[in-house]
Amino acid sequence: MKKVIVIGAGVSGLASAIDLLSKGYEVELFEKQSGPGGKMDQIQSNGFTFDIGPSIVMMPDIYKEVFTKANKRYEDYIEFIRLDPSLTVFFHDEMDYSLDVSCDMSQFIPMLEKINPKDAHGFLRYLENIYGRYLNAKENFILKSFNHPRDFYNLKTLHNAYKLKTFNSASASIEKYVDSKYISQMLAFQTLYIGVSPNNGPSLYTIIPMIEMFYGVYYLKGGMHAMAKAMEKLFLDLNGVIHYNHPVSEILIENKQAVGIIANDQKVMADKIVCSADFPYVMKSLIKDDKDKGKYVDQKIDRMKYSCSTFVMYVETSRKYENAHVHNFVIANAFEENINQIFNGERINDPSFYVYIASKIDESMAPKGQDGLYILIPVAEHSVSQEDWDEHTKAYFKEIVLKKLEKTETFKTIRQDIKHISYMSPDDFSEKYNAYNGACFGLQPILKQSNHLRPQSKALKCEGLYFCGSSNHPGAGVPIAISSAYLATDALIEDDQNA
Ligand SMILES: Cc1cc2nc3c(=O)[nH]c(=O)nc-3n(C[C@H](O)[C@H](O)[C@H](O)COP(=O)(O)OP(=O)(O)OC[C@H]3O[C@@H](n4cnc5c(N)ncnc54)[C@H](O)[C@@H]3O)c2cc1C
Repeated sequence: MKKVIVIGAGVSGLASAIDLLSKGYEVELFEKQSGPGGKMDQIQSNGFTFDIGPSIVMMPDIYKEVFTKANKRYEDYIEFIRLDPSLTVFFHDEMDYSLDVSCDMSQFIPMLEKINPKDAHGFLRYLENIYGRYLNAKENFILKSFNHPRDFYNLKTLHNAYKLKTFNSASASIEKYVDSKYISQMLAFQTLYIGVSPNNGPSLYTIIPMIEMFYGVYYLKGGMHAMAKAMEKLFLDLNGVIHYNHPVSEILIENKQAVGIIANDQKVMADKIVCSADFPYVMKSLIKDDKDKGKYVDQKIDRMKYSCSTFVMYVETSRKYENAHVHNFVIANAFEENINQIFNGERINDPSFYVYIASKIDESMAPKGQDGLYILIPVAEHSVSQEDWDEHTKAYFKEIVLKKLEKTETFKTIRQDIKHISYMSPDDFSEKYNAYNGACFGLQPILKQSNHLRPQSKALKCEGLYFCGSSNHPGAGVPIAISSAYLATDALIEDDQNA
């Protein structure tokens, strides 16, 4: 039986480890943290449970596939709860205007008609257009590796790339269909889910609201981290071996062949290695010799563009917020300026932010009669940021958010309700999970870092080494990171069979 080492027990590392185990490989996982999940981690404090990172479950079939691919029933591991409305979007400084986004057309279309009947029609035309492009992207780009130039540079793929029509930005693409500022911002801001600006990210990323609409938005009982625990359980059920608190310090490469790793100063040898730690960090820190890096030498890694980071506050409160929903987005008044500041690193004076309240739907997430608020502010990643993430900066962002929240009817008592706050800053994402530049979504998925131009599943200059995770093709977000894992395991198995 061939032995594979997987580095990192985040969602992509676990998905690749499970897939390889179920296909007959012996798999050992090495993770620097003390538990599973990576960014899909969890904080427990005073009876409150908070997801640290991901919170919005989209494309549930990809989550389910992790279990069904291993011939297990997903129902034995995780429980999905469908959300409706899927999210609420607040506008205006006063937050006197909000839209409940429902995946039920009989709710959603009348709401759009009230804003602007022409935009309701525009929205349907947008859906028709983006759904066709999504099917093309899924079949020809997202679920396909580009490990060889010929995988992209062939007539069929070039033709499909042309048909994707993804050269303009998400904002520009949406404005072709809708006039209302509210509806276009509601659709455009969602590119931030993968850390890219709606003004810069390829227009294909307007697929996100379509995916919500067509495939639903879900909550996992126990929070997102329940998926990480379920994957850990499945991995152990299949007799996988996990070493927590084992940071890998080097991937050993001899004569253009990956042969093992060094973890906690011990050499561990294997036939093949799948690395799910963040690709730019791996190239800089775990692969020691430039000749084994191919084009991804330090200068190239420094020149690449990174997704935004986030500053997250986990707020333990003393009450329940009756009128809030699970996912609540507050769009800054000066939305354009806010987007520019996130990506040019200037101090953000009027942030957009997101409030996730898992305890609205899941009593196990907070003490009885209380809500835990996860408040996420998109901020700049380290290479462009002008912030020091010290106590002053944290207090600055906390104050702006509280000022905005207390203006709302729903959260007007927030200041006196707070019992305790924990924080995750870009520094923490970088230190805890080795997210390069503290970028929460890896390499930014701009056109010149997408598809064949993004790091692929197979090492360029050595055999037996495979990559998955947010900075690799096809990109960030839990379902997409899981897809990257399968591209890596497919490449590994193909090489193994051809050997
Ligand atoms: C704040 C935030 C909010 C998000 N919201 C959403 C959302 O709502 N929905 C969604 O779908 N996605 C969301 N995402 C994105 C999603 O979380 C990620 O794309 C996905 O979890 C990435 O998984 P991964 O396996 O690629 O990386 P990671 O989760 O980073 O896993 C990499 C693992 O490798 C480990 N590691 C690193 N270096 C080493 C080493 N040297 N040795 C051993 N182990 C190492 C790390 O500790 C980590 O466990 C969010 C992310 C963040 C940060």
